[in-house]
Amino acid sequence: MNTQKQVNIIGGGIAGLTTALALQNKGIDFRLFEKNAQITYENVGFGISANIFPILQELNILSETEKLGAKIKKFHIVDDKLKYINSFAINQPALSVKRKEFYQLFLNKLPRDKIFLNTEKHTSDFNESEIVISAEGIDSKTRKQWYPTLKKRDSNQILWRGITKIELDENFKNSYHDFIGNNLRFAIIDTGNDFYSWYIIKQKDTTSEHYTREQLIDLFKNYHSIVKEMIQKSGDIYFSQLKDISPRHRKKLSWYKGNTLLIGDAIHPTTL
Ligand SMILES: Cc1cc2nc3c(=O)[nH]c(=O)nc-3n(C[C@H](O)[C@H](O)[C@H](O)COP(=O)(O)OP(=O)(O)OC[C@H]3O[C@@H](n4cnc5c(N)ncnc54)[C@H](O)[C@@H]3O)c2cc1C
Repeated sequence: MNTQKQVNIIGGGIAGLTTALALQNKGIDFRLFEKNAQITYENVGFGISANIFPILQELNILSETEKLGAKIKKFHIVDDKLKYINSFAINQPALSVKRKEFYQLFLNKLPRDKIFLNTEKHTSDFNESEIVISAEGIDSKTRKQWYPTLKKRDSNQILWRGITKIELDENFKNSYHDFIGNNLRFAIIDTGNDFYSWYIIKQKDTTSEHYTREQLIDLFKNYHSIVKEMIQKSGDIYFSQLKDISPRHRKKLSWYKGNTLLIGDAIHPTTL
């Protein structure tokens, strides 16, 4: 007789996908529910630090992940004119990949009949004999129900991201360039095969959410021309606000109640 409890994962972000693959590799049956019509992510870069590699190895996807992007071996701090201020080698190189492709890698390994799209679930939809893993992200309804007074923290910083296909000189290969200047940050990260991901971080103001590509370029008009070129030639540009839950409040939270477990940003959202 099969006495294994039904495992239900709510949310098809990176936390839900990782859990699904880990369960599958251990022969544990699961169902994953995603409220959106697709499991995917915006076309942006994704940094995977070296401490995650053993987990990817355990999931049998490390070598495939490595093929998706570039190893980041050097970190450069430069000024607005691309003058090198400080450069150092990264002892344990990180990986930079396209986030969309990384999600697809997981999806390719998971059986479609275990994934229920367009399906919004709540912990109350399951009975007490089932296991529920809430991987609902920073706006987790489960967490809000458990901790109704807990508030998100706004960093008051905003961010734009994109990926640009461009030929850059050798200095940019396997490297992270962080342009520091004038209360603005611009970063260029090798993401493999002449793709470079980039981001802008800026203090929030009342109109910035609606900046056009030209307005973003204008922010950097006094910077080295490579910044303008990266933004100009970029694929779609995505806007985000940086919010989290303060570590002081996070550490007081329980990760589970009965058969329900909170994972990922549902319980420990962090900013960059
Ligand atoms: C700008 C930015 C850049 C970042 N860059 C990096 C990086 O380079 N490297 C890195 O490691 N981390 C990065 N992070 C952090 C990382 O993105 C998050 O920690 C991670 O996405 C959290 O994954 P998650 O699966 O917990 O939540 P999410 O990615 O938010 O996924 C939650 C999923 O659950 C679904 N869902 C929610 N509620 C329900 C419901 N009731 N029923 C069904 N489905 C539901 C949502 O639709 C969503 O698909 C970055 C974060 C930000 C904001």
